[in-house]
Amino acid sequence: MATETKKALQGGEFLIRESDPQDIFIPEEFNEEQRMIAQSALEFLQQNVWTQLDRIDAMEEGLMPSLLDKAGELGLLGISVPEDLGGFGKDFVTTMLVTEVTGAGHSFSVAMAAHTGIGTLPILYYGNEEQRKKYIPKLATGECKASYCLTEPSAGSDANSGKTKAVLTDDGKHYIINGQKMWITNGGFADIFTVFAKIVDPKTGKEDDNLSAFIVEKDFGGITLNPEEKKMGIKGSSTRQVFFNDCKVPVENLLSERGNGFKIAVNILNIGRIKLAGAALGGAKAVVDQSVKYANERLQFGRPISSFGAIRQKLADQATYSYVLESATFRCSNDMEQAIEALEAAVRTTQRPC
Ligand SMILES: Cc1cc2nc3c(=O)[nH]c(=O)nc-3n(C[C@H](O)[C@H](O)[C@H](O)COP(=O)(O)OP(=O)(O)OC[C@H]3O[C@@H](n4cnc5c(N)ncnc54)[C@H](O)[C@@H]3O)c2cc1C
Repeated sequence: MATETKKALQGGEFLIRESDPQDIFIPEEFNEEQRMIAQSALEFLQQNVWTQLDRIDAMEEGLMPSLLDKAGELGLLGISVPEDLGGFGKDFVTTMLVTEVTGAGHSFSVAMAAHTGIGTLPILYYGNEEQRKKYIPKLATGECKASYCLTEPSAGSDANSGKTKAVLTDDGKHYIINGQKMWITNGGFADIFTVFAKIVDPKTGKEDDNLSAFIVEKDFGGITLNPEEKKMGIKGSSTRQVFFNDCKVPVENLLSERGNGFKIAVNILNIGRIKLAGAALGGAKAVVDQSVKYANERLQFGRPISSFGAIRQKLADQATYSYVLESATFRCSNDMEQAIEALEAAVRTTQRPC
């Protein structure tokens, strides 16, 4: 069983501990339900995405949001969202399987991953009950599209050095956000932005050492966008600069606690990292399929090029690397599911492990 509770591994323990092969999750263990969900995701790509890659790459107005709407109708945006918030409440392995399948969706996979991952997870993981109830159901269905605004012109890897500021109004009811974010995926059509900014004391002008996080609705006003970036790849994915000019955010939209934003930012990116592996796996498998098909069809010297040793070696390397990536990704996914279950069990018994 994919989600059977076993002792959760600590950090890099898997590297040094003797492992029983029975304890290592392999893709052959996907259950019937997981396979059916993966099949629906594949059919979604076949019917809606692969048929119009040129239109997607040309960034046809409204196309990407409409694809996210369709994915939302199918439930693909709410796989990991709890059922009481409008999702399917599936485990992390299922989420990763869907991420793998949709990873073969070219630019669409970037929009979907940003929406379901860095767009939705800050509110899902760190929002209070009211915030979760207000925003998560709309994100799970795709009614609202989400983005994550951390990077700035001078703050990339050193994310905590961002210059975006939030100042509390005199009546204590709003934060006024000013600043510039860049390379924001889904920026062109997002309705909700998780924005990282440093709170500044209006009297002393002193800013916090650490970022805070805010849930910002586009309708709050004070948000402007630069044109789409012209990228070398994933051309259909929206990537914009987002400017906040006296953007007025209600105090109840502070996410978690003041100064907790950097922790939120990096924890969300940690989930993003393994999901990126899943998406890359889906892309890699699609490339293997295309390569084999082409090598079998293409004739040179009167034979399919797949009969030549050098081509066979390339195909074998592709298959081997994909297999290694698949094994590592799903072993790690199940380890994470077990860690999540252990954490939830500890929370239930109020013994927080960290
Ligand atoms: C297509 C795309 C979509 C994106 N979407 C989003 C988004 O939705 N939201 C968002 O907030 N951001 C987004 N980003 C920004 C992305 O998160 C940043 O690019 C990333 O944080 C790295 O920052 P940087 O590009 O400024 O690189 P830099 O920080 O300038 O790094 C440049 C190089 O220096 C290396 N380097 C930096 N520090 C060290 C060090 N201490 N030791 C050794 N090497 C180091 C880096 O590894 C890198 O190779 C996106 C970027 C792209 C390209």
